[in-house]
Amino acid sequence: MSLILDFDAALEQVQLRAAAFAEPKTESVPLLSSAGRVLAAPVVADRDQPPFDRSTRDGFAVRADEAAAGPLRVVGQIRAGERWEGLNEAGSVLEPGCAIEIMTGAPVPPGADAVAMVEHVETTGKSIRMNAERVLHAGENIVPRGREARAGDAVLAVGTEVEAAEIALAAACGCASLTVFRRPRVAILATGDELVDLDATPDEQQIRNSNSYGLAALVARAGGEADRLPIAPDRREELERLIAEARTSDLVLLSGGVSMGKYDLVEEVLASMGAEFFFTGVRMQPGKPVVFGRLPASGGQGERYFFGLPGNPVSTQVTFHCFVEPLLRAMAGAGISPPRFAQATLAEDVLGKQGLTRFLPARMTPGRARSMVRLIGWQGSGDLAANARANCYAVLPPEKIRFMAGEVISVLLR
Ligand code: AMP
Ligand code: MG
Repeated sequence: MSLILDFDAALEQVQLRAAAFAEPKTESVPLLSSAGRVLAAPVVADRDQPPFDRSTRDGFAVRADEAAAGPLRVVGQIRAGERWEGLNEAGSVLEPGCAIEIMTGAPVPPGADAVAMVEHVETTGKSIRMNAERVLHAGENIVPRGREARAGDAVLAVGTEVEAAEIALAAACGCASLTVFRRPRVAILATGDELVDLDATPDEQQIRNSNSYGLAALVARAGGEADRLPIAPDRREELERLIAEARTSDLVLLSGGVSMGKYDLVEEVLASMGAEFFFTGVRMQPGKPVVFGRLPASGGQGERYFFGLPGNPVSTQVTFHCFVEPLLRAMAGAGISPPRFAQATLAEDVLGKQGLTRFLPARMTPGRARSMVRLIGWQGSGDLAANARANCYAVLPPEKIRFMAGEVISVLLR
């Protein structure tokens, strides 16, 4: 059975399935363990932010119209962490003709409507005067209470991926722990008679199983929990036994054994186990033999999605970024997102291939005005060293062959 799709059609298949996942189970994790996780409950502001009218400058709390008119008497000082209690019981409001020295982050006293920056006033003894060329407007240098968020507002929505910005905001809301989605468990099954694991010394003709490790790292970064299975040899019975074990996980990733070789048995074994295929190849390079489908889960309870990724390590990683990552993010509760494409300007002429979407290891140099991208020389899709020198893949669409220096193209980030 052969079901070869164009790149965009294959991606559509993945996104179609990604849209259909039920929400995963949830768990609570300490705030600092939440980086990379996906929120399963909103983070809610426990009080107004800021909780008081906050001065954003060191200076003097004043009435703006008075500051323009003439000198003001400085009657006190408010430091961050303090609040203005007044000089006496009657005086908790800033008196006319007065100013109060105030520090960044301190609450502006009632009655004041602006803060004059210390750099913009002249001080003489106990009185201040605005510099002649400065005009102070009401509201200047103050963030009013609740302007950033109101108590009870959801400041982070379900489905948000937690990183440093979210951790800081959650901390500001008093959250010592967060409710996040459980990570999907992803079985990783490398296939190939030539493969040996890291604890063995390979004979000259043997190859170390690098894919299981590369994939485990990619899975973790995409929000999954990797479960590396033993290497499967290219024999039907053992493949079937290990695939049966793998499908107890939430998602199955196979590497190798999906090309046209005599011992590429993965598709055949999957089919014999009742697999349904959404595609068995994609018009892309590298990554053409990539397979996507679903299997009955173990015990016949529901189904498990699987990917058969090509064994060549660069193909494995490119196809992971293109297809596995969007599906896995959706399974992790982060919603539907395309692969991480960006735009960059080609630094040199490049050749594509008619009819194939190409993904070539490349190095992007981000710039403020524009980002430049340059290909990395490589020996093809087995070249892990070149892949590691790259920081993205230049994407060359299938419609044309010549891409010129200066042209803006897509890159696939990783
Ligand atoms: P295959 O997709 O099985 O035809 O393998 C294609 C190429 O990728 C061959 O050169 C394999 O030796 C290599 N390869 C397959 N699986 C792995 C793996 N797990 N780690 C590193 N290289 C692999
Ligand atoms: Mg193989």
